[in-house]
Amino acid sequence: MVKVYTIASGKGGTGKTTVTANLGPMLARYGKKTCILDADVGMANLGLILGLENLPVTLHEVLAGKARVREAIYDGPFGVKVVPCGLSLQGFQQSKPDRLKDVMADLVSEFDILILDAPAGISRDGVIPLTIADGVILVVNPEISSIVDSLKTKILTETVGGHVEGAIINRVAGSGDEFNRAQMEKLLGVRVLGVVPEDPNVRRASAEAPAQREGFVDRLARALFRSKA
Ligand code: ADP
Ligand code: MG
Repeated sequence: MVKVYTIASGKGGTGKTTVTANLGPMLARYGKKTCILDADVGMANLGLILGLENLPVTLHEVLAGKARVREAIYDGPFGVKVVPCGLSLQGFQQSKPDRLKDVMADLVSEFDILILDAPAGISRDGVIPLTIADGVILVVNPEISSIVDSLKTKILTETVGGHVEGAIINRVAGSGDEFNRAQMEKLLGVRVLGVVPEDPNVRRASAEAPAQREGFVDRLARALFRSKA
C-alpha cells in the first residue's frame, strides 16, 4: 500500500524542500520505490536544487490538464523519481491545484512512498496537500514564530480531516544532542521524528552547486520566461 506524506510548515524557509530533497533519495536508496513531488506550485524549487530546471513537462502542465503525470516524472539521486514544477508565472496561473488528488491517484500503483513538498502559509490551494496525505510531517525551526506557525498548520490539518504524523526539527544549534525533544513534543503536541542540526553545507549545496552546473543561468532564464509547454 502506498503511503503519501506531505512536508509542511506554517512559515516559509523552515527547510521543507531541503527535507523532501534529502528524505526522498534516502528512502529510494534503502529500497523503497519513492516519488517526490513539488506541490509548491507558486514558489517551486525542488527541481531547481536537484538539477532539474527548464523541463518540457512539469507538474504545472499536468495540473493545467495539458499532460499526463507520467510525462512529468524525472530521475533524481539514488533512483528516486521526481515530479518538479515549472518556474514560470504563467505556468503557475494555468495550473489547477485541485487536480492534485487525481495526479496522486495515477501514481499510487507504482510507488511505495509519495512525498509532497507543500507550500508555506495557509492559502486555499495550500490546504489540498494537507488533506490528501496519509500523514503530514511538519518541518519546524526551534524558534517561537516557527513553532506557533506549525501549531496553526497542525490545527488546520486536523480541521480539514488530515492527520499529522509528527515533526522534524530543522536547523538546531550544535550537534542536536542537547535538544530538548520532550519539551518540543509537549509544545507541538506531536511526535518529534527527527532533529537536524544547522549546517552551513546545506546552504552551500543548494545555492552554489546548481549555479556551477553548465548552462544553468541560461536554462533558468528560459524556465522563468517560458510561455507554454
Ligand atoms: P522551505 O522549502 O521550507 O521554504 P528550504 O528547504 O528552501 O525551505 O530552506 C530554506 C533555506 O534554509 C535554504 O537556503 C536552505 O539551504 C537552508 N537550510 C535548510 N535546512 C538547513 C540546515 N539544516 N542547515 C543550514 N541551512 C539550512
Ligand atoms: Mg520550499
